[in-house]
Amino acid sequence: MPSPIGHALAGVAAAWTADLIPGRRAWRAAPSTASWYQRAGNGLTLLCAVLAASPDLDLLVRRHRTITHSIGAVILVALVAGVIAAHRSRPISRVALMCAGAYLTHLVLDWVSADSYLPYGIQALWPFSRSWYISGWDLFRETARLHPLAAVEISQNVTALALELAILGPVALGVWLVRVKALAGLSAEMSSRDHPPE
Ligand SMILES: [Zn+2]
Repeated sequence: MPSPIGHALAGVAAAWTADLIPGRRAWRAAPSTASWYQRAGNGLTLLCAVLAASPDLDLLVRRHRTITHSIGAVILVALVAGVIAAHRSRPISRVALMCAGAYLTHLVLDWVSADSYLPYGIQALWPFSRSWYISGWDLFRETARLHPLAAVEISQNVTALALELAILGPVALGVWLVRVKALAGLSAEMSSRDHPPE
């Protein structure tokens, strides 16, 4: 399974991809003079990064890659995100899709990653099935978490992280560049609405 950094990067890319969908998204835009944090989509983009890395918190309860790595969990994230969006007067389906999409990237990345611990893969279809699924493609390396300060594990993790950045970095960068263009007009629209000409 990939590192939390690889997963978080995929979550950010998912949030930015959702911003490309036309519709009520002007609130996701910020002027070019705004801070990087605001331009990147502020707290919601950060939340998507956290959501994308969060399924591996199940390591703490020794139920790794089961319920947390399933379509059932993705649906739950969508429902909770939708309720919070409604509460905060944000577009419900957009926010639900963004958060669930970010979470779903975790499942996809684990599914295409190398795994040397039985049972291989993730219980992707829980609660509909308890079967374990893995693609066998080994696109991402396995990260080691048993002795993270041991030289051999540091080397393994650095190599795994470099591969994740090499694959996911260009994807995130590409989506970012398209998103900047897509939202540019919207942020101008927003600011002219906020400061109407006198
Ligand atoms: Zn995982």
